[in-house]
Amino acid sequence: MIIVMKLDASEEEVDIVCDSIRNCGFRPHISRGEERLVIGAVGSADNKERLQSLRGLPGVKELIPISQPYKLVSRELKPEKTKIRVGDFEIGGSEFIVIGGPCSVETREQLMETADAIKEAGARMLRGGAFKPRTSPYDFQGLEVEGLKLLAEARERTGLKIITEVITPEDTEVVAEFADILQVGARNMQNFALLKKLGGVGRPVLLKRGMSATIKEFLLSAEYIATHGNDRVILCERGIRTFETALRNTLDLTAVPLLNELTHLPVVVDPSHATGKRSLVHPSAKAAVAIGADGVLIEVHPRPHEAWSDGPQSITPPEFEKLVTELRKYASLESRYIHGDFGGEKN
Ligand code: PEP
Ligand code: MN
Repeated sequence: MIIVMKLDASEEEVDIVCDSIRNCGFRPHISRGEERLVIGAVGSADNKERLQSLRGLPGVKELIPISQPYKLVSRELKPEKTKIRVGDFEIGGSEFIVIGGPCSVETREQLMETADAIKEAGARMLRGGAFKPRTSPYDFQGLEVEGLKLLAEARERTGLKIITEVITPEDTEVVAEFADILQVGARNMQNFALLKKLGGVGRPVLLKRGMSATIKEFLLSAEYIATHGNDRVILCERGIRTFETALRNTLDLTAVPLLNELTHLPVVVDPSHATGKRSLVHPSAKAAVAIGADGVLIEVHPRPHEAWSDGPQSITPPEFEKLVTELRKYASLESRYIHGDFGGEKN
């Protein structure tokens, strides 16, 4: 249930409504939009009749039931899009955010070379796995804390913000110490212990869609993080498994506008994991801009044939630069811009 407050409702009236929500056995969740202040009552649907008593309280305009199973992340709760601030930029606003970097952090040389190049091209964030969730236990598992330190060094050097994956609840503190955004990988989308932990981490979370997850399951996973205290969640479409085996995954592009209808959270696309194929990254990224994504996450490696993971889908820094230059045109058609674009000149 959401409680829409009158435009002139006082702070005291808001407090009274929150207390009453608690007395009904629910948790209040305040959402201040540009045009209205709403309070979500989070709890079991079995008790929702109790909330009817809020109707007569001062400052309350109306009570609206949320029809979707996910509540806090739904557009019904918050009609305007959420913008997530990271340093001096926002994800979910008119800037189209480009994130690039290697699948895994391998060496200082590899990471710094990549970071310098993507920064120059207009990227805002550097991605790179330090804790790697690998399908085979024999594959490289990541440099762990050593990798996090290298990412922090790259941030120091370039000013790029850092996004990196966390794979267990126990590692969230150490990853949060170094990362600006914590990534939850496709394999962990329904690791509920991890999602709950990320509710209290104090950093935005990039949640990747599970490879067999429906949109509803995806949004319910985001809801886990939100109900545990963190509504700074970015959704990432990274391809799903279908009957088609020609590619690593099938990029579900329509997930983007559908998510934009169902949720206020920002949505980004990962064309690298979605396709698994270097030559398809470029066209898929263009489609992501055109279909309304808020950004892309792209694997970049200076020498993809030497990469310790995901080489076949990694593009080189010059290819990345070419891609970003082209994405700028697509972004402007969508009334958006990419960092570093001032009338075609780079700053
Ligand atoms: C990654 O980003 O390198 C990764 C492991 O992605 P996913 O979880 O989407 O497979
Ligand atoms: Mn990868």
